[in-house]
Amino acid sequence: MTRPNTPDRINDDGTRTITTKRACNGCSQLLGDITDAEMALAVAGQSLPDVRRECPTCAPTAPEPECRPMRIVAGDATCLALKCDHELTTGEYCGEVAEQVICGTHSEITNGSEIVHAEPWPCKHSKAVTA
Ligand SMILES: [Zn+2]
Ligand SMILES: [Zn+2]
Ligand SMILES: [Zn+2]
Repeated sequence: MTRPNTPDRINDDGTRTITTKRACNGCSQLLGDITDAEMALAVAGQSLPDVRRECPTCAPTAPEPECRPMRIVAGDATCLALKCDHELTTGEYCGEVAEQVICGTHSEITNGSEIVHAEPWPCKHSKAVTA
């Protein structure tokens, strides 16, 4: 996975638009644009995924990133937006929405939060921390 690295832009009115960057959790070097998923974690005050494998300095010595469980919901956009007419079940969503736990480390998620590959939890990639 390559991380885009958007340079700061100077707007026509002279202001500067900065894209928040993700720093390596090993050496604090900036690696590129922060992803939507990382931003969401940061906003929620949760720890960010281990990105040392992306860092040219840390990659040779970095251990395999730890598996971490991630809860996802799959369903119709209307249902996810809670704008459907289905009856709400016990959870936050209606019965048409399936909740699933996947491994956030070994699943492929695009910057637009689209899940390309979902690795089921518990992850078979070993050393899973218990949820
Ligand atoms: Zn580093
Ligand atoms: Zn995993
Ligand atoms: Zn629904």
